[in-house]
Amino acid sequence: GPAPESDNEARDWLAGHDGSFGHFINGAFAPSADGAKFETFEPATGARLATLARGGRQDVDAAVAAARKAQGPWAKLSGHERARHLYALARAIQRNGRVLAVIEAIDNGKPIRETRDLDVQLAARHFYHHAGWAQLQESAFADHAPVGVVGQIIPWNFPFLMLAWKVAPALALGNTVVLKPAEFTSLTALLFAEIATAAGLPAGVLNIVTGEGETGGLIVDHPDVDKIAFTGSTEVGRLIREKTAGSGKSLTLELGGKSPFIVFDDADIDGAVEGVVDAIWFNQGQVCCAGSRLLVQEGVAHLFHERLKRRMEMLRMGPPLDKCIDMGAIVAPVQLQRIEALVKKGVEEGAVLHQAKLEMPKGGSFYPPTLLTGVQPTSTVAVEEIFGPVAVSMTFRTPEEAVQLANHTRYGLAASIWSETIGLALDVAARLEAGVVWVNATNLFDAAAGFGGKKESGFGREGGREGCYEYLKPKAWQGLKERKTA
Ligand code: NAD
Repeated sequence: GPAPESDNEARDWLAGHDGSFGHFINGAFAPSADGAKFETFEPATGARLATLARGGRQDVDAAVAAARKAQGPWAKLSGHERARHLYALARAIQRNGRVLAVIEAIDNGKPIRETRDLDVQLAARHFYHHAGWAQLQESAFADHAPVGVVGQIIPWNFPFLMLAWKVAPALALGNTVVLKPAEFTSLTALLFAEIATAAGLPAGVLNIVTGEGETGGLIVDHPDVDKIAFTGSTEVGRLIREKTAGSGKSLTLELGGKSPFIVFDDADIDGAVEGVVDAIWFNQGQVCCAGSRLLVQEGVAHLFHERLKRRMEMLRMGPPLDKCIDMGAIVAPVQLQRIEALVKKGVEEGAVLHQAKLEMPKGGSFYPPTLLTGVQPTSTVAVEEIFGPVAVSMTFRTPEEAVQLANHTRYGLAASIWSETIGLALDVAARLEAGVVWVNATNLFDAAAGFGGKKESGFGREGGREGCYEYLKPKAWQGLKERKTA
């Protein structure tokens, strides 16, 4: 196969910082005020990767103050002027696409093919899309004003893409940002801060504070933050909702999922098998909207599972910079242990384990593609989000039973339906409690389509016009008149 992607440029960038990074506040890197640090490791090897600053109260204060100072002038720019900045950021992402993709692959463990062709491209697309909305702001959102200073807290599964989903709409609509990347994967955010500065983004508009959950908590609690946008676990989302209740802060939550993947008797079986690969083995299953619950109609269940097991054996696992792999490493040992424990529990509760016997690199956090069949709908693995490459499978007889099983979850993020009968697919789609339903497809994203959950998967939308409103507040007509005559 082709030679692995070169990591020279990425290693040079790391070496240029001596492998040690501060927060990015008011346009410059700065260590923590109290000197606190933590280390990160390469998922694929376990080797130390970087030392990062651990944000404390003074760092969060400084970042919020910088964002506050920058917000007025940033909001006063015309929509066209802000659009010019967003286009510049989108182009800068594309120009620096290779180094961003390599850093992301090393830091997260995911395949370079995906960081290069999906994460980085979709991130650039998000900035292009929102440049368009910035340009339209005066006409499309004339009766709305920016929210102000936004605290954004993101997870590690799509570190750079989640940054783009959060930062692009916030900036486009006149807000400034204090962003905390996930502790495992902060590097592309820090690299982006440099790229954005070189592309002319004014100081203070985007501030990045690194750290663990506690640092995120300081941002949530900060009295001068107007809004919190959070993507992560349902558990932390619930905590943030409690903490912000009555605070006057607005809130959007993008949380977990246990999305159904429904295969009807008349489905294109090979298409559906390939769909499972994308649904649960893509990104090692660390996808909030992963099709992790397979619901298969009885008449086709045997054939479908046989083909799926055969396909599973053909997947390739390896180091993230290998261009031929389908699956890389799990983000961290703690996540690997969580997956192992849940699968063990599934077997104890009576599921049958099928695991591909693939060659896996030694030393890193690797977990093979896994299928659990004969799963009871009330068992732990059918209910809990595993957040790894583990599909659990159940069977059903009728469309009614499929709908009932599909909705039998506290989550409601996504769903996928496989059938050659479009009437059946659309009828079932309308009855599923999910933020997005795909038909004969899975894990499709577009910057123009609002993404978000129902039930315990959260609320609010990212992308499209709906997503813009999450970063705007209604403006009283009186206020508007005053501004126009001022
Ligand atoms: P997590 O909730 O532990 O962490 C997410 C972020 O929150 C991290 O930056 C973390 O440092 C921070 N955090 C942790 N505790 C905090 C606290 N008390 N206050 C403030 N911030 C805190 O989740 P994770 O393990 O990083 O991510 C996995 C989860 O995220 C999964 O459940 C997955 O489904 C979900 N997820 C959802 C979406 C979506 O769009 N709905 C996307 C990606 C991931």
